[in-house]
Amino acid sequence: MLYKRSSQLFAAAEKVIPGGVNSPVRAFKAVGGTPIFVKSAKGAYLYDEDGNKLIDYINSWGPMVLGHAYQPVVDAVIEKAKLGTSFGMPTELETEIAALAVSMVPNIDKIRFVNSGTEACMSAIRLARGFTKRDKIVKFAGCYHGHSDSFLIQAGSGAVTFGSPNSPGVTEGTAKDTLLAKYNDLENVKTLVEANKGEIAAIIIEAVAGNMGCIPPAKGFLEGLRELCTANGILLIFDEVMTGFRLARGGVQELYGIDADIVTFGKVIGGGLPVGAFAAREEIMNYLAPLGPVYQAGTLSGNPLAMAAGLAMLKALDNDRAIFTRLEEKTAYLEAGIDKVLKANNVVFTINRVGSMISVHFDENPVTDFQTAAKGDNETFKKFFHGLLQEGIYIAPSAYETWFITDALTYEDLDFTINAIDKVSKTF
Ligand code: PMP
Repeated sequence: MLYKRSSQLFAAAEKVIPGGVNSPVRAFKAVGGTPIFVKSAKGAYLYDEDGNKLIDYINSWGPMVLGHAYQPVVDAVIEKAKLGTSFGMPTELETEIAALAVSMVPNIDKIRFVNSGTEACMSAIRLARGFTKRDKIVKFAGCYHGHSDSFLIQAGSGAVTFGSPNSPGVTEGTAKDTLLAKYNDLENVKTLVEANKGEIAAIIIEAVAGNMGCIPPAKGFLEGLRELCTANGILLIFDEVMTGFRLARGGVQELYGIDADIVTFGKVIGGGLPVGAFAAREEIMNYLAPLGPVYQAGTLSGNPLAMAAGLAMLKALDNDRAIFTRLEEKTAYLEAGIDKVLKANNVVFTINRVGSMISVHFDENPVTDFQTAAKGDNETFKKFFHGLLQEGIYIAPSAYETWFITDALTYEDLDFTINAIDKVSKTF
């Protein structure tokens, strides 16, 4: 496949946009080459500016759980746009989507909508700090919670791909209030809590990690965090920006039966429009302005187009619960197929998967945290990535990313992908 026009468009973009992209993960810096410029997308497929058709395993980094240009979402946005694109005033639609989200997710009474996952997580820790009257937070190495200052400490995803897990520009003052823990290591978290007794407002975690590849929580890890938080007056924040409305109707809380104090959302909740949200029980949410003292705001928050898209998406997931079973089955099928062909071609690998999140690591050891994720062979990954691209399959251009499976994928698409992986892995 040729990507000539994409290269030309990238050259033009580089002149006026830093690195040619508006978010670093889109660049092909880690794998070499130039990003693909998209013209349109429908269902499981991307159509690029060179006229190529690609099977999409990124799906806008998660939101397209039902495929691109999902008709009810498209229709809802078009209809709303005709009535005005932003008011900065309350609309009935906001209450409708809030009520639906609250009914779908365990342990939340109230929800506030923002414009991105970054904003959701940033606001969640401010709320936790205000509520507990404590300053410190604990985050896990390799977890990504957006690009706000407090979180760019050993962050995963693009931050680590591009060598800035600790970004310049984050002051020492801010960094000192973020304590860093090891994913899946409860003893490590206990030690931190013990050493900072009475000072920690919140522990924030991707309860299923997706920004160092996909890493499931070890047995007992989330339960242990829950107990530790309850015993120490710490709020447990589940960052469900990737996992919310994807791994289960009620997210990881429902999947594993563990209660979080605050939950953050993004991606699926906006149906592909710029939406994030954070939610908690009433006692905590009432700390927010205008009811309470913790300030948080947004001119475009609850924007009618975004709310219309999000509502159409959540309604679809609420009405057809079999979607989650189908996603699980399709992804399990893909996992089994990849496992079979990589083994047959004597490739050294580990596959991690939870529901419709899956990642292939080119290392034989279990991948359970940031350290083990970093051991993957990047040279093999590069061959894998470019080989698949030539076969018309688009995965994320970094070994630290998860594949997001969409219900729009057919078993023919999955077989095509498995055959392509067989072919490509013969060239390693
Ligand atoms: N949290 C998690 C777990 C994420 O994966 C992301 C983005 N990939 C964010 C927060 C930040 O969301 P956004 O990019 O919408 O700001």
